[in-house]
Amino acid sequence: MSLPSELNANARLIASAPDLYIALTNALDCLHDILVPCEGDNCPCILHEIEAALAKAEGAHTHGSR
Ligand SMILES: [Zn+2]
Repeated sequence: MSLPSELNANARLIASAPDLYIALTNALDCLHDILVPCEGDNCPCILHEIEAALAKAEGAHTHGSR
């Protein structure tokens, strides 16, 4: 392919997005079982980090922070 490397990297990222999304969703389920639930909208823990990333992938229309 003659795509510029940045486009190429973006294309690979987009192509892998569904797998990443599923993997993160499964990881979130596991972490919910392991970690103590926390509260707070600005919590920086890994659970909220993953939830924020998933919300972004979904278009950020869930979990109420519009
Ligand atoms: Zn948290």
